Amino acid sequence: MIVQNAVICNKCDDFIVSKHRHDFVTCGCGAISVDGGQAYLRRVGGAGQNDDGSTWQGYTDLSWELPDGLYKACAQAVLDAEASGRNHIGVANAVMRTLRDADRIVADHEQRILAHNPDLDEIMIVEVDGSVNRYKKVNVDE
Ligand SMILES: [Zn+2]
Repeated sequence: MIVQNAVICNKCDDFIVSKHRHDFVTCGCGAISVDGGQAYLRRVGGAGQNDDGSTWQGYTDLSWELPDGLYKACAQAVLDAEASGRNHIGVANAVMRTLRDADRIVADHEQRILAHNPDLDEIMIVEVDGSVNRYKKVNVDE
């Protein structure tokens, strides 16, 4: 699911966002347009060919997506939090818990799992200091 459909024009520095399917938005200098909202990513302009055949790109894409299931889980977390009377902080926390449970958010001062190999009982961790360590489960009874 597309969460944000947006670019920054490298010529005029405009940040432009297409907010719905037929929201065609053009930057101030006219070099790049975005379209499609959360339905699809469409770009008009913003790129071309140099005389030597190489291509130039005149915008920085700031679009991003989440898997459909996770996006729907976040939307459901909003509904559930609202239905149980949570205020805006409670709603925000419910969404952040959903993203954290999916390993999409890491709290400050928290290790992050980079990879897990259950066949080898190994796990790779990004430590708080940014270093990466690999741990292997050891059975001390043998
Ligand atoms: Zn522009």
